[in-house]
Amino acid sequence: MRPDRLSSLFVSVVLALIYFQCADAADMKGTVTVLKYEKVTVHSYMAPADGLFVTSQILETPNQIVIVDAQYTRPYAMEVLDYVRGLNKSVSRIYVSHSHPDHWNGLSAFAGYPIYTLPEIKAEISARAGRGQADSAAANPAADVREISADVLSSGKEVIDGVRFEFEKVSAAEGSVHLLIRLPEISTLVAQDLVYNNVHLYAGQNEFDHWLSVVSELKSRNSDATILTGHGKPVDRSGYDRMIAYLEDLRQFRVTSKNGEELKQKLLEKYPAYNGSRLIDISLPRLYPPAK
Ligand SMILES: [Zn+2]
Repeated sequence: MRPDRLSSLFVSVVLALIYFQCADAADMKGTVTVLKYEKVTVHSYMAPADGLFVTSQILETPNQIVIVDAQYTRPYAMEVLDYVRGLNKSVSRIYVSHSHPDHWNGLSAFAGYPIYTLPEIKAEISARAGRGQADSAAANPAADVREISADVLSSGKEVIDGVRFEFEKVSAAEGSVHLLIRLPEISTLVAQDLVYNNVHLYAGQNEFDHWLSVVSELKSRNSDATILTGHGKPVDRSGYDRMIAYLEDLRQFRVTSKNGEELKQKLLEKYPAYNGSRLIDISLPRLYPPAK
C-alpha cells in the first residue's frame, strides 16, 4: 500500500476510535472527573441521582488499575467496568471502603476481580447480604472478598505498581468501620464517605461527635491537597470545612427538631444547592426510630 494511502487509513482508524469513545461517553449516565499526575491518573466516577451520587475511584497507575468502591446498582457498576476496560490495563485491586450497600451492592459486576477490604467490613457485608440487602445477582458478594493482609495492616502501607498506598482503619463515623486510603505521592486522600461534596449526608449511624473529630483530625494533618469523596466530585481542602459546618448543623438540628420532617426541612433550607435529599430520607428512620 502506498504511504499516503496508509496514512489516510491510519487517520480513518483514529477518527473511528475517537468517535467510538465519544459515543460511549455520551451514553454514560455517570460523570467522570479526570485528574492527571506524573505517575497516577485519577478517574473519579460519580453515579447520577438514582445511584445516590456514589463515587467509584479509578486509580490508574503506570501499568495497572486500582478501583475503590463498586457502586450501588449494577448498571452503574457496569459503567465503571466499561470505563475501566477502555483504559486497557489490568485491574490489580478493588477496595471496598465500608459496609454500606451503596458501595458494594454492585460488586457482582466485578466477579473474578481481586476484591479486598478490612476483616470487619467483610464481616459486616456478609451480615447485611444475609439480611437480603444484596441484589439478586449476588446473594453474598462478600464470599469472594479477600481480607487485607495483616502485614499490610500493621505497616499501613503497600507499593502497588510502583505507587505507594497507605491504609488506615477509622471507626464510628459515617459508618461503623471505614478503610481510609492515601496516595502520598500525589497528596490525595481517598476519604470516600468520611467526606461528601455538595451532597447531603447519610446520617443514620448517628455518630456526629466522632465523625466531626475524624474530619477535624484529617484536616489538621495538612497532608492532602485533593480529597476523593464517597458522594460527589473530588474536592480540595475546603471540602473539610464544608463537611465540618454541615455536621455541626446536623448535630444541632437533630436536637432542635421535633421529628424527621422538621430536620429535613432545616437541612434543605440551609443547603439548597446540595444534591441527594434521598440520603436524608434514608437516615431519618434511624435518627427518629418509630415508637414501639
Ligand atoms: Zn455512601
